[in-house]
Amino acid sequence: MGSELERLHARIRACTLCGLHATRTRAVPGSGRVPAEVMIVGEAPGFNEDVKGLPFVGPAGRLLDTLLRQIGLSREEVYITNVLKCRPPQNRDPMPHEAEACLPYLRLQFKLVQPKAVLVLGRHALERMLPGVGPISRVHGQIFVRSGVAFMPCYHPAAALHNAALLDDLQKDFDRVREYLDRLLGEERAEPEEAAVEPGPEPTDPEPPPEAEQLSLI
Ligand code: SF4
Repeated sequence: MGSELERLHARIRACTLCGLHATRTRAVPGSGRVPAEVMIVGEAPGFNEDVKGLPFVGPAGRLLDTLLRQIGLSREEVYITNVLKCRPPQNRDPMPHEAEACLPYLRLQFKLVQPKAVLVLGRHALERMLPGVGPISRVHGQIFVRSGVAFMPCYHPAAALHNAALLDDLQKDFDRVREYLDRLLGEERAEPEEAAVEPGPEPTDPEPPPEAEQLSLI
């Protein structure tokens, strides 16, 4: 599995499928281990990530590390990536055709990681991964179960860096992820044959509107 991931990362580093390859310093495939219980998906690399070729390494990354630590997880235990693997110039919003070109990589990563929970960080990642569920201000902290995998939208750590209210929401949302995992793992230990039953604090699995574009990660 590890070498499969390395081969995928190498493909991403050499990718020229959209115009962002011309302006990137380095592509940012992702980091962490596979398989992993928790997968974290942000929007796109920023300045620091583009320079280093690693996801979430600037101030937002340090906040993410702190949030993970507070729920007993480390960066090494999860898998972290973005919807877009290359930085849009001046951190502009990703364009739909760029996200489309890049999505196959995210699907392959999802298959390798086999997560139990996916944290969807920020508005753009939410729009791509859970289209039609509502704005992040309303749905953050909710759990949307898709084929047994829990997807939870959260504010992007970069948005919470200078906003105490958002930071408070983000910490509470991470606490819910911990609760969800604890409940899930507890049920798996107690009744392994029922591990496929959807657990968690009031998970919601609304039918997406027919017009909504689907990521089809699964
Ligand atoms: S953003 Fe994705 S599709 Fe575009 S060049 Fe980078 S890796 Fe390839």
